Amino acid sequence: MSTLWYPYTQMQNAGPFPVVKGATGATLQLESGATLIDAISSWWVTIHGYNHPKLNQALMQQAKNFSHIMLGGLTHRPAIDLADKLVQITPHGLNHVFFSDSGSVAVEVALKMAFQYWANSGNYGKDKILSLKNAYHGDTFKAMEISDDSDFTSTFSSHLRRGYFIRTPHGGFYADRKMVTDDTLALENILREHNHCIAAFILEPILQCAGGFKIHSPQYLKAARRLCDIYNVLLIFDEVATGFGRTGKLFAAEHAGVTPDILVLGKAITGGYIGHAATVSNSMIYESFLGDDSKRAFMHGPTFMGNALACALALKSIELFEQEDYLGKIRKVESIIIEEFGSISSVLIKEKRVLGAMGAIEVYDSRYLNGLQTFAIKEGVWLRPIGNVVYIMPPYIIAESELRKVLSVLKNWFM
Ligand SMILES: *Cc1c(COP(=O)(O)O)cnc(C)c1O
Repeated sequence: MSTLWYPYTQMQNAGPFPVVKGATGATLQLESGATLIDAISSWWVTIHGYNHPKLNQALMQQAKNFSHIMLGGLTHRPAIDLADKLVQITPHGLNHVFFSDSGSVAVEVALKMAFQYWANSGNYGKDKILSLKNAYHGDTFKAMEISDDSDFTSTFSSHLRRGYFIRTPHGGFYADRKMVTDDTLALENILREHNHCIAAFILEPILQCAGGFKIHSPQYLKAARRLCDIYNVLLIFDEVATGFGRTGKLFAAEHAGVTPDILVLGKAITGGYIGHAATVSNSMIYESFLGDDSKRAFMHGPTFMGNALACALALKSIELFEQEDYLGKIRKVESIIIEEFGSISSVLIKEKRVLGAMGAIEVYDSRYLNGLQTFAIKEGVWLRPIGNVVYIMPPYIIAESELRKVLSVLKNWFM
C-alpha cells in the first residue's frame, strides 16, 4: 500500500517508480545509481534543465527577502516586475496580468474573465465555450468541460455541462489553402449559428499538446481571429504548454502574428522550479471590469497568486531566455530532431511531426508503444507516451549527444 497517491495511475499495480535523488542539466540521477536523460522536461517545464546555477541563485536571493506575500491588499516588486515583463514580451495588445498557481486555474480564470466580460458588457446569453476536438485544457471541472472527452474526463462525463467542439484543423503547419478554407468554413458555420451563446473560442495555438501533438497552420489562427471579431466571440489562446519557446517562437501566437483577447501561460513560466501561471488580457476586457459597482470586479484570488519565489524565478528564466540565444538553441534542437527522425521508419508509424523543440511520433495503435517506457529506462532515457503518440520535449539546453541518444532509443524501438 502506497501512502503517496500518484497521478493518472491505477495504484493497485503501480510502480515501483524510479526514485530521483538528484538532477543536473537534462539528466536525472536515480537512487539505484542509474541515470536518465529527461526527454520530456518533467512535463514540459524544465526548459533550462535541472539545478541551474542562475535560477538557484535567484530563488535563494528572493527567499532571503521574503518567499511569499499575499496580493490581497499588499503588493511586491517581483510580482509587479513580472507583470510588466509579461506584458512586454507577449503579443502586442495584452496588457494586464492575473497570476495563479497552476495552468488549470489560469484556464479557469480566463473562462471566468470571458463570461464576466460579456455580463459586464450587458450581454447575458453567452454561457458556452467553443473548443477544438481532442483539446486538453486541464483537470479542474470547467477545464475538463472545455476539453474533449478522453481518459482524463470520461469518469466525470455526467457532471460536465459541455459547450461546443469544432474539428481540429488538418494539414499541419503548412496546410494548403484548400485545407485552411475547409477548416475555416467549419469554424464560421458554428460561429454563425451559435455566436449568441458562445462567450469564447479557446485553443492551443499551432500545437495541440496533450491532445495528441497535432500541429495546425498559422493561417487558421489568422482566420480564427478574423471570425471571432466578426461574430463577437472572444479568442483565448492556451499557451500553458506552447509558451516559452516550445514551438520555436517565444509564444506560438507569433507564428501567425495574432493577438488573442486572453492568453494563458503556465508550465515553463518559472523555468520548471515552482508551479505558477498567468492569465493575460487585453485592455478591452480589463476595462469592462472597471466601474463604481464592486460587482463588476473580478472575484478571484488564489492564495498563492504572485508568489514571490515563483515571480523571481520567472523573471530570471525570461532573462536567460533573452540573453542566451534560446531561440537559437531551440532551432538547433529542432534540426537534430528532424535529421534523426529522417532515419526512423516503421510500418507501425502513422506520422512523424516536428516543431521547435518538440518531436512526436504517432503510431496506428497505442499498443505499439506498450513497453516503450521500460525499454527507454533500460537505455537511460525518460519518456512517457500519451495514447498513440510518443513525443519528446527536451530541455532546450540538452547536449547534442544526449539528444541524439534519446532519438537513437526511439529509432531502436521501431527497428
Ligand atoms: C498542462 C496543461 C494545462 C493544465 O496545467 P496544470 O498546471 O497541470 O494545471 C492546461 N492547458 C494546457 C494546454 C496544458 O498543457
